[in-house]
Amino acid sequence: MAKYPNSDAELTSDKEPYYMALFGSLIANLHKNSFVAAWNFTRNNDLLISVNWIDINFRSYIINCDTGVLRNVHEALTVVLSDQRIFRSVGNINKLIYLDEPNYYHEVLGRAKNLNEIVFDKDRIQLHSRLYILCISFIFLHEAAHLINGHAPYTFAHGAKKFVEGELNNLTPLDMQTLEMDADCCAFMWLLHMLLLPSSKTMLPEFVSKESDIILITQFISEFLFSCYFIKRHKDLNTTKQAPHPNAATRNKFCLDTGERYCEIHRRDLLNIYKKMRQEAIKFRNFAVERNIFSSEDVIRDNEWILSKEAENYQSEILSNWDLWIPRLRNFADKGLAPAST
Ligand SMILES: [Zn+2]
Repeated sequence: MAKYPNSDAELTSDKEPYYMALFGSLIANLHKNSFVAAWNFTRNNDLLISVNWIDINFRSYIINCDTGVLRNVHEALTVVLSDQRIFRSVGNINKLIYLDEPNYYHEVLGRAKNLNEIVFDKDRIQLHSRLYILCISFIFLHEAAHLINGHAPYTFAHGAKKFVEGELNNLTPLDMQTLEMDADCCAFMWLLHMLLLPSSKTMLPEFVSKESDIILITQFISEFLFSCYFIKRHKDLNTTKQAPHPNAATRNKFCLDTGERYCEIHRRDLLNIYKKMRQEAIKFRNFAVERNIFSSEDVIRDNEWILSKEAENYQSEILSNWDLWIPRLRNFADKGLAPAST
């Protein structure tokens, strides 16, 4: 058995080149030559990853991803994967980790007090480290989508001085939520597309041998990040509509629906297996809910609400609004945008 490394090991300055290289490889095929990506990592009480994109007019766009996000993903994943029911056949763990106090940091997960007691065997460690990188890849791709799809360039052209994740960026909440929906859906689709390529094999845990495993892994990333990690839950319609992001369960639904559309259009042979895997991925969420890892009542309420008529109307409003955004973004987007919602 091998001791599980502390998340601090993933967040030291000597890892900075690794995160830069990861971001570079993720976006390599997604942007045109008109963009030059430059990088800097600064340390200001905390690690801050800033990616400067310099376009032909020498405007630079900065996106930030701080240590807190990475650490929380790393540790939340440790807690979730300490449950052998999740990816049951992969490796072994010495104990199930519970949290004394769920949600005490970042409203999601604090540093679990007994993380240093956990022991994963080497297969479980590999599962954790590969899933961690895929979660980070999703987050990087989401941020990249704000640039590649023209969200940030559009707001700059309309007077915004900076584009900040989690803020309204001079837009109405509906408009910002629409762009967040686009960033999530593209990130999910790009990740699924990339992982289905044979060249991505080294990014996946070694147990993966079939395309159905790849689909399940990708759906797990969305379920984990939105059902377990990201925090914005539905409370009431007005609060949900005023936030910069849609509620977490809606974001998860949008991502998983996008994967289904991707299969319908590009990989019809995988469509049925994709639908079947969605039921499997929900089980992962349910295991986490059962253990009360992430404020279970909120997760349950959020996921129940998205099935209501009220939520359906709210989601349709975002999707219809996307149709209005396609012509606005066309001159700022680096790639073709997703088709209209109807
Ligand atoms: Zn965003």
